[in-house]
Amino acid sequence: SEVVLSVRDLQTWFDTPAGTVRAVDGVSFDIRARRTLGIVGESGSGKSVTSLSIMRLLDPPGRVAGGEILFRGRNLAALPEAEMCRLRGQALCLVFQDPMTALNPVYRVGRQVAEAIRAHNDISYRAARDRVIELFGMVGIPDAERRFDEFPHNLSGGMRQRVTIAMAMANKPDLLILDEPTTALDVTIQAQILDLVKGLTDTTVLLITHDIGVVREMCDEVIVMYGGRVMEHGPVAAVTGAPRHPYTAGLLASIPSVAVRGQRLNAIGGAVPSPLAMPPGCPFAPRCAHAMPACDVQPALVEATPGHRVACWLEQGAEA
Ligand code: SF4
Ligand code: MG
Repeated sequence: SEVVLSVRDLQTWFDTPAGTVRAVDGVSFDIRARRTLGIVGESGSGKSVTSLSIMRLLDPPGRVAGGEILFRGRNLAALPEAEMCRLRGQALCLVFQDPMTALNPVYRVGRQVAEAIRAHNDISYRAARDRVIELFGMVGIPDAERRFDEFPHNLSGGMRQRVTIAMAMANKPDLLILDEPTTALDVTIQAQILDLVKGLTDTTVLLITHDIGVVREMCDEVIVMYGGRVMEHGPVAAVTGAPRHPYTAGLLASIPSVAVRGQRLNAIGGAVPSPLAMPPGCPFAPRCAHAMPACDVQPALVEATPGHRVACWLEQGAEA
């Protein structure tokens, strides 16, 4: 299928009094139509900053300092704000972890979704309302006619997230970005929301998550990020079935098994380095059991097998 979004060597920097933080440092990927790409990493890996860069929703001092974000061939990084505004909420939609960021607490939920439709389409309120009822049904909101008139605080967290997904889907976006869409929800509701997203098979999705178990279940392709850089990138079956980067292996080892849900097994030791004190070489080196002198220099992202790229000196024949 055709490429919907092509990110080329993205650089997103934050200029702070203590120095420049390269929150995203040379990230590249393509998303093809109707595919789901996952970006996984711990907090501080740069995954959310990547999605905010695409949407152009970075708060200052964050800025795209380099690279291209080609959306259907147009560079979003260079688009006038008015055009970007037209794309947001229509062709490009972002769903956050907390549905309340997207919902206005003082308006009835159905009306909010109807207005989101009317903002981009010349249709009557009545027609928009019918479309909302249909969308609510599609995202599994029971009793949609009645829910239409509820205020956000009268809905459960799971129902609120369904409303924000309905709002995001209202204008049939070319790209739906979901940033930790289920992190704030309890486990049963998480599974329901993920099933809902999985059912959107005609939609092109970028899914941001800290949970590689979610990626394994939901995505076709995955990027593993750490310290603003891509550590491993490839088809989900390859990356999660036979990880080649020590960080990916660590993330997989920390997936809680069903028996001990909620408990983290073999969590990776150590912490994500401060963004102002990134190691000069491989960012994962301070936590890596395989670190060796070669790792003081940044390893390039190289193809290990066709379509599967890894940034690790172990792949490139370096020896301790
Ligand atoms: Fe570990 Fe070195 Fe590979 Fe980084 S490059 S993941 S430190 S072995
Ligand atoms: Mg985040």
